[in-house]
Amino acid sequence: MGDKILIIEDEPAIADALLYALTTEGFEAHWCGLARDGMSWLKQNPVDLVVLDVGLPDESGFELCRRIRQFSAVPIMFLTARKEEVDRIVGLEIGADDYVVKPFSPREISARVRAILRRARPSAPTSDSLMEPLFAHDEERKRIRYHQQWLELTRYEYLILSALLRHPEHILSRDQLMDAAWNDPAASLDRVIDTHIKGIRTKLKKILPSNDPIVTHRGLGYSIELSRSEPAA
Ligand code: CA
Repeated sequence: MGDKILIIEDEPAIADALLYALTTEGFEAHWCGLARDGMSWLKQNPVDLVVLDVGLPDESGFELCRRIRQFSAVPIMFLTARKEEVDRIVGLEIGADDYVVKPFSPREISARVRAILRRARPSAPTSDSLMEPLFAHDEERKRIRYHQQWLELTRYEYLILSALLRHPEHILSRDQLMDAAWNDPAASLDRVIDTHIKGIRTKLKKILPSNDPIVTHRGLGYSIELSRSEPAA
């Protein structure tokens, strides 16, 4: 269900353009051509935002805005045909949230409406904390973060969880998980890698004997820790 927008505008062509633009963007838009009708709709229906024309035939948009403010804090965006009216909207404290000067593009209206609704609901579920993924997989360092904390996993726990993360929303059978963890092709190369690491360490120690920047992670592999380097004596 989209946010509910009430349009109070007496010119059908403008109202049609607004209705089309807003419903295309997923809003639920309702149109009233008179201030009187808009007021009664507002009192009987839930409305998230009002788009209000300043120049209405039965009452000025300014006056209607004041009357709405007596019972509702619903966001109000004015449509105005004349630049002089902008001064009144900005200068007088009539409780408007925004205004658009005619002629306007429907796209501009949709963008403004969305911005006003965002401001009106600062705690809506668009905050950064919810944008952070639940899992973060650092494949290079073979570690997995869950809810912003690094997990301490055994080799097999890591291989199983990373296999699952590679196929989100997919069911991996017990056989498939066994393959991912136990038939890891890298596993059979462990001894070969160990030999090469030993050789590299020997060469590094010849240059700086007190330092060993290569860290062995038991059951997982190795990493190089540049921050661990000690200043040469
Ligand atoms: Ca008008």
